[in-house]
Amino acid sequence: MTNKVSDILQLPIHKLKGIGEAKAETLQTELGVYRVIDLLEVFPYRYLDKTKFHNISSLRADNNHVQIKGTLISLQKVKGKNRRYRLQGLIKDSSGILELIWFQGASYMEKYLEVDQEYVVFGKVTKFGSSKNIVHPEMEKVDGHSTQHSVSHFEPIYPSTEKLEKKGLTIKYRRKVIKGLLSHLTEKDLPEILPDYMTERLKLCSRYAAYHWIHFPENEQQKQAAINRIKYQELFLMQLRLLYNKMELKRRLKGAPFTQVGKHFHKFYDEILPFELTGAQKRVLKEIRQDVGDGVQMNRLLQGDVGSGKTIVGFMSMLIAVDNGFQNCLMAPTEILAQQHYESIKSLAENMDVEIAFLSGSVKGKSRKIILERLEAGEIDIIIGTHALIEDPVIFKNLGLVVIDEQHRFGVEQRAKLWLKNKKVAPHILVMTATPIPRTLHMTSYGDLDISVIDELPPGRKDIVTRHLRESKRPDIIRFMRQEIEKGRQIYVVFPLIEESEKLDLENLNSGYEKLLQYFPPPEYQISVVHGKMKAADKDFEMQRFVKGETQIMVATTVIEVGVNVPNASVMIIENANRFGLSQLHQLRGRVGRGAEQSYCILVTDFKLSNEAKERLNIMVETNDGFIIANEDLKIRGAGDVQGTQQSGRIDLKVSNLVTDLPILNVARFYAKKIMERDPKLQHELHTMLNKYMKDSKQEKKIWGRIS
Ligand code: ADP
Ligand code: MG
Repeated sequence: MTNKVSDILQLPIHKLKGIGEAKAETLQTELGVYRVIDLLEVFPYRYLDKTKFHNISSLRADNNHVQIKGTLISLQKVKGKNRRYRLQGLIKDSSGILELIWFQGASYMEKYLEVDQEYVVFGKVTKFGSSKNIVHPEMEKVDGHSTQHSVSHFEPIYPSTEKLEKKGLTIKYRRKVIKGLLSHLTEKDLPEILPDYMTERLKLCSRYAAYHWIHFPENEQQKQAAINRIKYQELFLMQLRLLYNKMELKRRLKGAPFTQVGKHFHKFYDEILPFELTGAQKRVLKEIRQDVGDGVQMNRLLQGDVGSGKTIVGFMSMLIAVDNGFQNCLMAPTEILAQQHYESIKSLAENMDVEIAFLSGSVKGKSRKIILERLEAGEIDIIIGTHALIEDPVIFKNLGLVVIDEQHRFGVEQRAKLWLKNKKVAPHILVMTATPIPRTLHMTSYGDLDISVIDELPPGRKDIVTRHLRESKRPDIIRFMRQEIEKGRQIYVVFPLIEESEKLDLENLNSGYEKLLQYFPPPEYQISVVHGKMKAADKDFEMQRFVKGETQIMVATTVIEVGVNVPNASVMIIENANRFGLSQLHQLRGRVGRGAEQSYCILVTDFKLSNEAKERLNIMVETNDGFIIANEDLKIRGAGDVQGTQQSGRIDLKVSNLVTDLPILNVARFYAKKIMERDPKLQHELHTMLNKYMKDSKQEKKIWGRIS
């Protein structure tokens, strides 16, 4: 007798009884089902409990999902106020009558539904006009037999599309196919992959049971046990995969060895550093030093709220690289920001023996040629610029560290490109961002990065006073601006510039600027203007005037959103503030409050505001804390971003939800980490199946990746 695991589940889907070539193709394109196992893993997203129905008379318009059973007694098209047709049906049970409405697909539904037929209706009860109703309900025909004969009270409902229905792959049909398949499977076909100690400790049902129960549970307990097990399995395997890949990468990639902290670092730290580092800055520097010291390549994300002092940490890390004979590159997302980093780092390093250069698309001709040559010859220690720096055929002699500012979306592919910039050893990578990263993202999208957090602001920072003012208060705003300018302060006035309404927005900015000119006429007052449509050189000129204090007001679009540092600027006025997202508002506000003075942020809007906009502005008024703001942001947007990564293809989650299943994710992460610590290559016999799974699923990805 062999103990060989049967491979029926790995067969292509057309080998399954009842699925021919044509159906197989539709399953592939519509549901991504290639193999038999894939079909089994298209899980139900809800169940029809054929024993539980609400009475129509007891329904309330409370937006909850309900299921009712009744007869469709009428169906008609009605012309609405907007002259569009909608389909209106009436469903009747023994207790009353309820209205059903379709705005979309009215014609299709009209043909599809039959009056006098009995249906199970599922949907949310709402109020539209004066009556209760369900908009776009799911309708399932009741055919006399199934209710009596159904063994299970739970009928699985699968995701479906029009194409699937047309090709005969109805939910009902698929239900039958899956049932048939499951009845043939033995425990050997669906072996356990989680180690015993884990299923025991966490009281998880077996994989075999879970796959049966999730499709055809006989009771609530089975259903919950199956969902729970599959959610855990999914999140655990994802975590294990992320950590496993990270380990593998560390094994494979040799990093530039920074074995010593030498004279450059010490000279700066002992003699030049103009302030005491905060505790958090020191801790993060230590984390970085450890990470770059052991010959393994660093991939680290440095997160710290606006103004927390990330730049100095980045700079001091570069000094360690210089101490070890390596070159550095600092990249910023905009020309303005890159320029500013260049200025401030040059002044920090003024009395040091470190060669610093600036390179961007705007550096051309002979000076560009010279810089490129010196870089290749190893004469430049630190090169600062925009991302063009790394796209261009820029050649380094010995690149050891790349610091990327304000770019938390810098992906793994882009980073991988940087690794190749040094032929001998991969340069270390430090990505800095002010965007707080929710814990779920730490564990998922950023799972392959190590993370350092600066969670402390330099001492003496005052909270920025934030107010939300309506347009009607404009005279007060002008008066306040005059006052602050008199005290020697500078002011930002920011206008939104959104891609789709770019032209209108620019007009807004220009007319805003014209108005300001009336209130603040030259020569007494000077105003800078900066927006994305200007030439780099012009932008830079205007920006520099403001930095040097030659202009008191800076009118700008969000080009100044990230990074710009003018400590004397103490007022941030954001026009049409309702059009900005929370994290953007927080970033913008972070441009002030960088000096010793009390700073202010004024959010200006019209009277009419959506509730959501009001909520956003209130949060800004109430708190300065970037973490709170990020969390509120996540709540308001319903975690759309997190879900986005869930569907991005990097992470394939079928039943679990990164937001609502966070507790399960935490446990999964815990176990994945433990295993990677104790058995990183998955060689222990307890982990044989996990090891096989990791290898299989990796291969799979390659194969299917090529097909689709
Ligand atoms: P961010 O993290 O937003 O990039 P910066 O690096 O621009 O912040 O730092 C903001 C300001 O705080 C700069 O003017 C910087 O010189 C100053 N700064 C940084 N660290 C300290 C510190 N430990 N003590 C005092 N000032 C600091
Ligand atoms: Mg910064």
